Amino acid sequence: MQPPPPTTALPLLCRAACAGLMACAAGCMHFVGVDPLAPQVRSLQQSVALPWLDPDDMPGRTEITAGQLVIHADFPVAHQHRLIRDLESLRVDVSQTLGLPISDEPVHLYLFENPTRYDEFVAKRFPGFPARRAFFVETDTSLSVFAAWQDRVAEDLRHETTHGYVHAVVPALPLWLDEGIAEYFELPRVEGGEHTAHVAHLAGRLIEGTWQPDMLKLEAVTSAAEFSQDHYAEAWCWVHWLLATPDRRTLLQEYLADVRRDATTAPLSIRLRQAPGLPADITAAVKAHVEALAGESGFDSLP
Ligand SMILES: [Zn+2]
Repeated sequence: MQPPPPTTALPLLCRAACAGLMACAAGCMHFVGVDPLAPQVRSLQQSVALPWLDPDDMPGRTEITAGQLVIHADFPVAHQHRLIRDLESLRVDVSQTLGLPISDEPVHLYLFENPTRYDEFVAKRFPGFPARRAFFVETDTSLSVFAAWQDRVAEDLRHETTHGYVHAVVPALPLWLDEGIAEYFELPRVEGGEHTAHVAHLAGRLIEGTWQPDMLKLEAVTSAAEFSQDHYAEAWCWVHWLLATPDRRTLLQEYLADVRRDATTAPLSIRLRQAPGLPADITAAVKAHVEALAGESGFDSLP
């Protein structure tokens, strides 16, 4: 598929628009079907001007390999930096939790020394792209994360690196599940995937009577432009609910395995309706799950 010029194409190619949302600063762009290095698309390079092909703009002072990650930074990065070790262990967490194999496909992390340098890069190479702290780009042959080193870089890199680890083995994940999984794993490991900001948001919606869990609606959202804070919170909620018991975790793992084999596999919502052992009223069960988490966190008494 030939992409249009970047000034108009990039926002349309964005898989997820997390910018400006309370809990997620990430964004995920996919250049579907385009390999910047493949012979058949080399003729497109001038018009596409894929930004990571220009080394002058890229962080290049340091390059280290940490497991599957190849980290390119504007500044010295130690192998033993706590964040690097955290991202390495995330690879195993994601694999074991989701029942996915570990891939050796490199995930490139481009780390800019500060937001100013990063913003200049984005403005130059991704003109018109909404402001955000980090983003993930997938092509046919590369998985890349771009981020600035700032206060929330750990959360941002866990989110984006999760996309990288998952896409290395399941390239055609539904948008909502892709984001729900990344939201789950963006938290520090000790949090156990419990995203208190999302819990508070959804608990507030329940108290207002303005939200009901509805996986069918989430599955219908295939455009980044439509993916709102409600969607991120609900996507996380379904993933957290699915991973909360062994039976449901197995169901999610089997679905991911099937999506990995066949991207056109039936939506998860259909599988949920047919799965034995699940509550008859899944909507009520997911609401109860949110209410229980809110109670534990003290969000059930919101005004
Ligand atoms: Zn994302």
